[in-house]
Amino acid sequence: MKKVLCLGAGGFICSHMATKLKNDGYYVVGADLKLPDFSKTDCDEFYQGDLRNTEFVNNLFIYHNYYDFVLQMAADMGGALWVFTGEHDADILHNSAMINLNVAKAASNRVGKIFYSSSACVYPEQIQSEPDNKGLKEHEAYPINCDSDYGYEKIFSERVYDAFRRNYGLDIRIARFHNIFGVNGTYKGGREKYPAAICRKVAEAKDSDTITIWGDGLQTRSFLNVNECLKCVDLLMKSNVTEPLNIGSDEMISVNDMAKMVIEISGKDLKIEHDLTKPQGVRGRNSDNTLIKEKLGYAPKQDLKAEMTKLYNWVNSQII
Ligand code: NAD
Repeated sequence: MKKVLCLGAGGFICSHMATKLKNDGYYVVGADLKLPDFSKTDCDEFYQGDLRNTEFVNNLFIYHNYYDFVLQMAADMGGALWVFTGEHDADILHNSAMINLNVAKAASNRVGKIFYSSSACVYPEQIQSEPDNKGLKEHEAYPINCDSDYGYEKIFSERVYDAFRRNYGLDIRIARFHNIFGVNGTYKGGREKYPAAICRKVAEAKDSDTITIWGDGLQTRSFLNVNECLKCVDLLMKSNVTEPLNIGSDEMISVNDMAKMVIEISGKDLKIEHDLTKPQGVRGRNSDNTLIKEKLGYAPKQDLKAEMTKLYNWVNSQII
């Protein structure tokens, strides 16, 4: 039986991944500061601990001295309130860099392959200044000029894994996720992203209430459901591609239009107002999927409204 280590297995994407791998017949070892918030873990073994701690990380590779692959998705992350106010920059940089430095070193020679979840936040601010973003191509990450320290840590850690590939033969796969959403993701508390935050606001509202959107709502993003994300990670892991690939939708939507979509899904009669004092991140962000198509012969596809309906129904069920 193939054995896999899921780091961040208490989090949104990695807990879904652990379930998929278990269903696919893998023996799954998980580690995180916490168990999943909204479901039980499907890991065969789960180690609760701090990946900033070198001894804890090394022990994960001693309990099992070889993994067929490792998925490294643990990070200090969140939505706009967490990443763009500047209040958490020191923790974001320190915590996530410590995790990745520990993991890259411990994994060398003890793992078949390692996956690292980077982010669309690595792309330079100046090529995301218009709502009509044509799509961010992987090579455009350089020269570096991220709009957040979260993005700087991600590109730093991409480089850490690539240096371990070049110097120690670590077999790496790197994806830059673009706004992944789905059930069992954070929807309150300050770390939630646009899709879940909008669903929560709509679910909490009563007919004829007004919901508040951060910024003028003209900012655009693309959003990808978690199952399609996992399918692409699976294809990437089975490929020989060691350069970073975008994993995201190339269907851009403004935050206003996403709010209108969720209001329509809810069947409620709601108005939208804007809070211009709140952070909104870059003006326009979209995934260019040319390279993933070329390298994996596949690019993410989805029915956004159908996927948002699933998310809305789940968030609504958590609130009532
Ligand atoms: P998440 O916050 O739900 O999961 C991250 C997990 O890492 C959490 O369970 C957290 O407890 C764990 N973690 C943090 N610090 C830790 C530590 N010191 N020791 C052990 N565990 C620790 O986030 P997610 O949405 O599932 O994202 C997974 C990965 O994908 C992250 O690396 C994130 O940066 C990246 N990513 C996500 C998105 C997205 O839209 N969700 C977009 C781009 C990149």
